[in-house]
Amino acid sequence: MKPFIDLQTQYRNIKDEVITCINEILESSHYILGKNVKAFEEEVKSYLGVENAIGVASGTDALHLALRALDIGHGDEVITTPFTFFATVEAILYVGAKPVFVDIEEDTYNIDPEKIEEKITPRTKAVIPVHIFGAPADMIKINEIARKYDLKVIEDAAQAFGAKIGNKKVGSFGDAGCFSFYPSKNLGCFGDGGMVVTNDIKVAEKIRILRNHGSRGRYLHETIGLNSRLDEIQAGILRIKMKHIEEYNEQRRKKASLYTKLLSDAVITPKEKDNFYHVYHLYSIRSSKRDKIKETLSNYGIPSVVYYPQPMHLQKALSFLGYKEGDLPVAEAVAGEILSLPMYPELPDEEVYEISQIILRCLQNS
Ligand SMILES: *Cc1c(COP(=O)(O)O)cnc(C)c1O
Repeated sequence: MKPFIDLQTQYRNIKDEVITCINEILESSHYILGKNVKAFEEEVKSYLGVENAIGVASGTDALHLALRALDIGHGDEVITTPFTFFATVEAILYVGAKPVFVDIEEDTYNIDPEKIEEKITPRTKAVIPVHIFGAPADMIKINEIARKYDLKVIEDAAQAFGAKIGNKKVGSFGDAGCFSFYPSKNLGCFGDGGMVVTNDIKVAEKIRILRNHGSRGRYLHETIGLNSRLDEIQAGILRIKMKHIEEYNEQRRKKASLYTKLLSDAVITPKEKDNFYHVYHLYSIRSSKRDKIKETLSNYGIPSVVYYPQPMHLQKALSFLGYKEGDLPVAEAVAGEILSLPMYPELPDEEVYEISQIILRCLQNS
């Protein structure tokens, strides 16, 4: 099988720098909350144009801590998308709040702002848009609604480091923005890692305390927190990769536009709204022949993945929320037809041609 995401090539290109960096950390023996985490937080602040950045242990923790710091909890409702990774919903449940799902846009697969207002109740406290696959959710419209109803906005930007609307990067639109540096994400480390960004200094201070057992670090505990710190080695690796993120995202966009040119007559290809900069964490097509395409690709040694086969409202673990099939028809239809193709910055153009040819031939013969 060819790679779906080729982390080895990327590693080889930065190997010397990574080994030097890890060696320095090993020699210093300073592993937790040291100079690399601090420097990486500063670098993310300036790259995203936000006032605070707090490194945490994962994207899931970033969401959990952002909700805690914004005082979302028992009895509160949080509006989000059913077309996401499970962690978005887990975080809402960790703080005791209730997830309320709003269907997605047919073309971007992101939460549909036109359908948010009808789900707002007196208990609604926040909305969590997810920039799915690296495509910015419509933050302009979402922020307008949030302002009107006094809701907090937490962006799940786990798949979208560097994505932007105009010149404003995702993560900087909401009360908090949450990132994951899981290895396969478009900015990934070599283990787990995450970050919360916010322009609210009070929220930032709360998260700094919460990530470290509710303590400022002197064995005096102000609240019950978590152990959720980004470690020095991951931060060091992320600093090296951050230097290339613009180039990585541009490469992804080039591969995406080649796929789209070759495939757009045969399948539904990803759409970009005017002025929205998609970073193609995943390149996903839609077709009623999805399963056949997947099987044919696999016969040629090409991996493809269904992100996501089941929307959140139909997950067994969430059955207690009381949703049923048919409640969110767009998300359900998309889950039945979506397919992600190999996508990474170093993906050779020849492979994009080869993969596209296989798909076109498969559809002609069916
Ligand atoms: C990966 C991901 C998360 C969780 O991030 P982890 O670092 O794996 O905990 C949350 N939301 C979305 C949309 C993701 O893709």
